Amino acid sequence: MSARLVLLGPPGAGKGTQAVRISGRLEVPAISTGDIFRANVAEQTELGKRAQRYMDAGEYVPDEVTNAMVRDRLAQPDAVPGFLLDGYPRTSDQVAELDGMLSDDGQRLDAVVELTADTDEVVTRLLKRASEQGRADDTEPVIRRRLEVYAEQTAPLARLYADRGLLVQVDGIGEIDEVTDRILAALTPKLG
Ligand code: AMP
Repeated sequence: MSARLVLLGPPGAGKGTQAVRISGRLEVPAISTGDIFRANVAEQTELGKRAQRYMDAGEYVPDEVTNAMVRDRLAQPDAVPGFLLDGYPRTSDQVAELDGMLSDDGQRLDAVVELTADTDEVVTRLLKRASEQGRADDTEPVIRRRLEVYAEQTAPLARLYADRGLLVQVDGIGEIDEVTDRILAALTPKLG
């Protein structure tokens, strides 16, 4: 099935986990900007070096860096029939850029899934992940900053996509399988 999807939601809502599952079911690649940045940091590429200090502080990597990276990734053959973007767009500038990338190719988004979870729950999950995976940006002060940046810059994008009739909101709290089923059920009417 061809689907062009965006997954929105605060850090800790389970986007990464769900993105992989949904992309498997819909047979489109899951594209996580956070994963691409982390791989570049690990390899100390030029992109990784530019991104690292922002990531470590819980800030967004500048739009021009992020947009160029996504443009390259979406041009790869596996993403031409469809994709699930996890963690992009996160700013209104990125929304406009994505619109441009898609319309250049005569494409548009099918749906934007917002995975919801309250702040206490996401902080608990992120602290648990910190002890399990040791991600550099999962310390408590950085987690707080990431949540603030999300609330300021990314949460408003849900409204914008709702106004376009693309938004589906899904409760991200519950068993992993249950949440996957909720997302797939919410997407069915959008994917026709
Ligand atoms: P994530 O794994 O999605 O939580 O992303 C980890 C970090 O990568 C974020 O806190 C940002 O520093 C950076 N990042 C990921 N996606 C974006 C984006 N779309 N725009 C700017 N920075 C991003």
